[in-house]
Amino acid sequence: MKVVVINSGSSSIKFQLLEMDKEEVLATGLVERIGSSEAQVRCTYRPGEQTEEKHIQSINCPDHRHGMRLAVQLLVGPGRPVADPGAIAAVGHRIVHGGEEFHQPTLISDEVLAAIEKNIPLAPLHNPANLDGVRIARELFAEVPQVAVFDTAFHQTIPPEAYHYALPAHLYRQWRVRRYGFHGTSHKFVAGECARAMQRPLEELNLITLHLGNGCSMTAIEKGRSVDTSLGLTPLEGLVMGSRSGDVDPAMHAFLARNCGMDIESIDHLLNNESGLKGLCGMNDMRDIHAAIAAGDTWAELALAVQTYRNRKYIGAYLAVLGRVDAVVFTAGIGENDPVVRARTLAGLEPLGIAIDTERNHCRSAGPRRISSDDSRVAVWVVPTNEELAIAREVRALLTPA
Ligand code: AMP
Repeated sequence: MKVVVINSGSSSIKFQLLEMDKEEVLATGLVERIGSSEAQVRCTYRPGEQTEEKHIQSINCPDHRHGMRLAVQLLVGPGRPVADPGAIAAVGHRIVHGGEEFHQPTLISDEVLAAIEKNIPLAPLHNPANLDGVRIARELFAEVPQVAVFDTAFHQTIPPEAYHYALPAHLYRQWRVRRYGFHGTSHKFVAGECARAMQRPLEELNLITLHLGNGCSMTAIEKGRSVDTSLGLTPLEGLVMGSRSGDVDPAMHAFLARNCGMDIESIDHLLNNESGLKGLCGMNDMRDIHAAIAAGDTWAELALAVQTYRNRKYIGAYLAVLGRVDAVVFTAGIGENDPVVRARTLAGLEPLGIAIDTERNHCRSAGPRRISSDDSRVAVWVVPTNEELAIAREVRALLTPA
């Protein structure tokens, strides 16, 4: 069963072709800088043993339609991984915001497209680009089932006391203002992989999952169901991210408007694009921050301290939410690769039953690995995420129910 996974963003399209019988990646690629005459296209065939690269630089790509055509040309045709589009069983699309309508991956129809469109006010940067990807893929793969996999869907099990903000009720009733949460595909995937690695049914486990990449979020998972998560109405709340502030005093907007001469657009831009690690120290890549700390940069050290302190504070909150926790799980770029962030996030939590083993924390591996000490009551795991595989699995499960 060959599945194409499309992640269509505002100026880029990521794509992957997977053979789902063996969960094997046949091709993975990226079209970047859509909307310019200097677009870049990269595609890797059979990543692994017989890797073959195709790199096209400075190609004219005025819009997503051109971008999708380029992607399809790299996947389908003579000498490509798939000879004709009929060999593709399904296309899976990452959709950022499914609102309250979508609790599951969903086969795309005109009604589903209309419902995704209705959620544009909740994700004005993401959903339009996601929709472009879907519409063009429906034309290019006319007979092929298309499936929407939502970043928000996993969190639809969060109970009302955790998803409501204490705001006038009409804002929820009329505008659906509430916590939605994001990175759901990743949290669900690593929870499942962790349960498998622990050889325990997911339905028995309480987990705290930390997705720490450029975007960061934490989820409290009770018996396989999300019961709270740190991202909110939009992907800005909660943890300190690469360029996003995470939690601030909600009066921040009023303060900045009244005192700093900023309008709503520039405040939104400041909190989403100029804050977080980048705001504190001018860098949003954790590798650069470590290098700067080694060179004596005190703002870089502060940025690391603020991020790991916020992580720890949320772990404390989710320990209280869950009561009993079986494992804390780290994933994504920082979570998988940065032993310093992991150690500082969990520092001092031994009295709460969480202790990592320094040597295990510094080991690397491609698959899931346990990094807690043998006497830690709560296990600590590093579990690599793979959102494309997670989407392709959801597509397979929807189209070939057991
Ligand atoms: P992601 O959004 O999951 O792709 O994560 C991207 C982020 O992961 C980058 O901005 C870096 O901050 C971080 N990252 C990637 N590799 C490493 C590494 N080896 N050590 C520390 N941080 C890393």
